[in-house]
Amino acid sequence: MNWILKSTVAVCAVALSVLYSEASEVKPPNILFIFSDDHSQNAISAYGSCINKTPNIDRIANEGAIFLNSFCANSICQPSRASILTGKHSHRNGVTDNGSHWNGRQTVFPRLLKSKAGYQTALIGKWHMEPNPTDEFDFWKVLENAGGQGRYFNPEFATQTGHETLSGYSTDVIADESIQWLEKNWDTNHPFMLMCQFKSPHVPQLPPVRNAKMFNGKTIPEPATLYDDYANRQPYISKNWMGLDVAVLGAIPPFGSSYKPHRSHTRNLDSMTPEQQTNWHEAYDKWSQEYYDFMASTNADDHVQLKAFQYQRVAKNYLRCVAAVDENVGRLLQWLEDQNLENDTIVIYSSDQGYYIGEHGMTDKRWMYEESMRMPLMIRWPGKINPGTAITQFVQNIDYAPTFLEMAGVTIPKAMQGASLLPMLTGNTTNNWRESLYYHYYGHGKHNVPRHEGVRTERYKLIHYYTDGNWELFDLQKDPNELVSVYENPQYQEIVKMMKKELKRLRKQYEVPPNEYGKKIFKKAKL
Ligand code: CA
Repeated sequence: MNWILKSTVAVCAVALSVLYSEASEVKPPNILFIFSDDHSQNAISAYGSCINKTPNIDRIANEGAIFLNSFCANSICQPSRASILTGKHSHRNGVTDNGSHWNGRQTVFPRLLKSKAGYQTALIGKWHMEPNPTDEFDFWKVLENAGGQGRYFNPEFATQTGHETLSGYSTDVIADESIQWLEKNWDTNHPFMLMCQFKSPHVPQLPPVRNAKMFNGKTIPEPATLYDDYANRQPYISKNWMGLDVAVLGAIPPFGSSYKPHRSHTRNLDSMTPEQQTNWHEAYDKWSQEYYDFMASTNADDHVQLKAFQYQRVAKNYLRCVAAVDENVGRLLQWLEDQNLENDTIVIYSSDQGYYIGEHGMTDKRWMYEESMRMPLMIRWPGKINPGTAITQFVQNIDYAPTFLEMAGVTIPKAMQGASLLPMLTGNTTNNWRESLYYHYYGHGKHNVPRHEGVRTERYKLIHYYTDGNWELFDLQKDPNELVSVYENPQYQEIVKMMKKELKRLRKQYEVPPNEYGKKIFKKAKL
């Protein structure tokens, strides 16, 4: 942006409700949306992590705004992505679960940015939905294979003209490709909107070799609920298949050993070049051998010792992957700085949903419980958002599309169910902002988690396991770790009534169709 343009911005202080395209010289801001997969707030130092540091991601919060009460609407990969693109809850955009059909003809914010405000748009990295994009973006290059997750080493991509396998580590490759698109494809006469979407730290959580020894010799603090006995709640959480035994995934059999490799090990080792395999074995065989030694010892028979051991492995591999995400966020921020674009570019960091890093003895997501319902969100926009802004209002992934549209001066379609976060980012009042959140998980039986929906207010959370009519209520002020459901407690019966009323109101507001009950679904869940 030249000095005339800069002064135009400063002097005009163009109201964002005015279309940028109508303001002769002012180009809308670039939008760089950096997105990861399964990155918990609890593994981001800006959110107070006690287990790691994320200095580059933190920069976005420190130099802009952090949303302290940021949530998803349905804690699973594809539905979160669909909600972000459409500004709608799952039942309205059709992507209720992984495996749902993506209707690419529906209204999505990138297409509006292009048609209404002249943006050049791109998505690079994990798309995950089916089918692949068509004209949702001007340019796309999306991970394929491994269930649409792509592999951690030498990932394969579907492109607009075919297929491509790129050498390197997934997170590095996606950042490289993003920078390359900006350098080679971006037409600087247009603002860009780039969605750079990492696969990491999703399972199987294979870190880059350079981070292999990170946290070695250190003990990662255990979460307070690691040894949760699942008492005082409905039985579902005690029966889920989201245990810490994924620790095995960090234990690719050492070179020359006779251990039988897990299917995911074979898949990931096979995608490495012989040189990468050698480097992997040099860096990881000791760590892997420790796993097999422990599992062969009597210590593995002790429930507590086993869980403690598994937790360290899960957390360390997860955090080594997160470190690579953070490093690449740093590279993207540095690129903007080097190109003198940081003042003209809005940078967002988020992840499709949260994740259990051992909390409640679990990994994975899905539940309406806090660790998976929360998603990180921070936004930097120099000159518009004051550095160090902390926002406490309830926000949800359905708000992203309206926010990006308003930032670009584009009218928000009425059919979008979210609301723009721009007023709270720029210090304006947000009267009548929502005081409760609607949540709905549809993947009945997957990982043995039942369908459920619910409502969260500042203090309470009501969850309805509607396939068989069970409920949980948590008093988050007294019980922030959600260890005791007070649904049956006589002292909470007025609260139960109030929360049920609120759930009903939200269902009406968002036009949620009647829930599906039925034996077929119930049986499938094996609960
Ligand atoms: Ca995910």
